[in-house]
Amino acid sequence: MQEKLFAITPGLTEASTHYCPGCHHGIIHRLVAEVLDELGVLDKGILVEPVGCSVLAHNYFAMDTIQAAHGRAPAVASAVKRVHPEAVVLTYQGDGDLAAIGCAEIVHAAMRGEKITTIFVNNAIYGMTGGQMAPTTLEGQVTATSPFGRKNAEAGRPIRVAEMLATLDGPKYIARVAVNKPANVNKAKAAIKEAFTRQIRGDGFTLVEVLSTCPTNWGLSPVKANQFVEESMMPYFPLGVYKDEEGKQ
Ligand code: SF4
Repeated sequence: MQEKLFAITPGLTEASTHYCPGCHHGIIHRLVAEVLDELGVLDKGILVEPVGCSVLAHNYFAMDTIQAAHGRAPAVASAVKRVHPEAVVLTYQGDGDLAAIGCAEIVHAAMRGEKITTIFVNNAIYGMTGGQMAPTTLEGQVTATSPFGRKNAEAGRPIRVAEMLATLDGPKYIARVAVNKPANVNKAKAAIKEAFTRQIRGDGFTLVEVLSTCPTNWGLSPVKANQFVEESMMPYFPLGVYKDEEGKQ
C-alpha cells in the first residue's frame, strides 16, 4: 500500500491564496491550521485578522474569523476570549499591524495575560502597502521609504518584539521561529503547538514570532529571500524561546 505523504489539512479551505510566490504566509497558515486540527480544536478556533497582507485570511482558514481594525486585533481577541472562554482565539499579525500602529495593543494584551495566542509574522517590511520601512526593518535595509538603507541614527534600532514582550509579567510562552528550511518549519510547528496547548489548558498570553519573507518588496527571488532570513535577519532576531513559564494565572 502506498504511503500518503501529503494531504489537504481540514483547517484550510481549498482556495488558492493571493500571496506572492515564495512568501512564507502560506507555510505559516498551514502550520497554524495543522496544529489546531491535531489538537482537536478546529471547531473552537476563532481567528482575528489584521490589516496587512493576511487581511484576507478568512478565505483560507476553515474556522470562524473576525476582522479587526489596523493594529487592534489583540483588543478584539481579548474581548472574544472573555466572552467565549472555551474558544481557542488567535491573532495573526504582521509587523506593521503589531509592532507599529498596534504596538500598544499587543503590549497591554500581553501584560494583562489575556489567554489568547498571537502569531506574529515578521518580514522586516510593510508588505501590503508597497514595501515601506517597518519597525523591524534592519539597519541598512533598503525599502521604498529608505532608498539609501535604514539609518539607526534617524529611525532607531529595529524592535525585537519577542524580547520586548518577554520582559512583561503576563505572557506565559514567547518564542521566535523561522520557516526558511524544513528543519526550521518543524521547530516552528512545535512552538506554535506549544503556544496553543498553553492556551487550551488556561495559561496566559502566548506569542510565536515567525521570521518570514517578502520576496516582492525585498526585490529578491524566493531562494535568495530564504537566504536573507538566515544570513541577515537571524543575527539580529535570534531564534529561540524567550519566555516559558508554567502554571495558570
Ligand atoms: S507583498 Fe510580501 S508579505 Fe505580502 S504577500 Fe507578497 S511577498 Fe508576502
